[in-house]
Amino acid sequence: MHLRCVDCSTRHPAEMLYACTACGGILEVADPAVLDPAAAVTLGEGDTPLHRADRLAAAIGFAGTVLIKDETVNPTGSFKDRAVAAAVSRARAMGLDGIVCASSGNAGASAAAYAARAGLPCIVVVPALTPSEKVTQIAAYGALLLQVEGHYSNSYRVGLEIARRHRFANVTTTYLNPWGVDALKTVGRELHDATIGAPPDWVLVPTGAGPLVKGVVQGFRERAPARMPRLAAVQAAGCAPVVRAFAAGERVVRAWGAPTTFASGISDPLIGYERDGTHTLDLVRATGGLAVAVSDAAIRSAMQALARFEGILAEPTGASSVAALATLAADGRVAAGARVACLVTGHGFKDLKAWRELPAHTRRLATDEDPAGAVDAMLAERAAQPALPRIAAS
Ligand SMILES: *Cc1c(COP(=O)(O)O)cnc(C)c1O
Ligand SMILES: [Zn+2]
Repeated sequence: MHLRCVDCSTRHPAEMLYACTACGGILEVADPAVLDPAAAVTLGEGDTPLHRADRLAAAIGFAGTVLIKDETVNPTGSFKDRAVAAAVSRARAMGLDGIVCASSGNAGASAAAYAARAGLPCIVVVPALTPSEKVTQIAAYGALLLQVEGHYSNSYRVGLEIARRHRFANVTTTYLNPWGVDALKTVGRELHDATIGAPPDWVLVPTGAGPLVKGVVQGFRERAPARMPRLAAVQAAGCAPVVRAFAAGERVVRAWGAPTTFASGISDPLIGYERDGTHTLDLVRATGGLAVAVSDAAIRSAMQALARFEGILAEPTGASSVAALATLAADGRVAAGARVACLVTGHGFKDLKAWRELPAHTRRLATDEDPAGAVDAMLAERAAQPALPRIAAS
């Protein structure tokens, strides 16, 4: 078991390392990462359901097959649990003193929960404007929470500094921690195993730095490289460094200036670790895939469609893959008969403000009001409205 640099292929020992000591490149686990199962810190992450979503497909006017990989059901409400469970397990097995994690909220919740389970102290660093539900969740698990001015990349830098000065493992879920990234291949494996006989043509992935993209690619590479789906890296139009490089045909991803999106989970400008974006772009291109940006308006419609037609409550980032499908189907980049798997990555409970801003059918019943009459009035009101705003083209 060892680590390998994705740029210069230098081998490194199986330690808690965050970059290639020869070239500064991203490290990956080079051969199967075996850990004594008794040493694993787990809360039951992974093995998430894959749902056929025919009503959603009809609602967005897509003639193909839509599959939803529902990562919201993970123990803390996002797929980050998969990576953090593995990284915290390694940290404890290596005898480190604690856990530090820079996060836009979800990885921090995972770090706090798994550190609690492991009996390790945990420090989480988040942007000051992180949705309040995510902040509350992190604090509830007992982590020390540092709120830092500005965007995610500022928090990332603070996380590095803390990990340098303490014997804490940095489980930040960019490509920084190879043990965490390696565990995301379970997403690709599960997708493969659930679709034998009819693999997806496309997998649509909400994308920040891109480890989840890598997890899907590595899972399929391991199981059935010949059946590799095309990957679409989905970013918010207000923070789309990978999409910008893809659209311009550039080889290298540059940092994004100032993010402006309510999709907090993918609001990552990559400042200081731009090569993460380049690695992700390379992976997407290797599958014959693409990178696509979606507007916040399109994401809002996708959130509503997922909830109302499939019963799945997603945070804005989690629904961005569905918004992307609407865009890609409308412009023909995804063919009409295609089989498409959308990863829905984070739970709607994590950002209730985003939901409160959306229309809802609610009414306060007056004490002397006839309930049946009130319901009739509400039904009539709803019938007069369009079922759903069409998912805006992005
Ligand atoms: C972190 C996160 C992403 C982006 O994952 P990357 O592996 O950083 O690209 C997508 N969705 C949600 C809900 C997230 O928390
Ligand atoms: Zn290297």
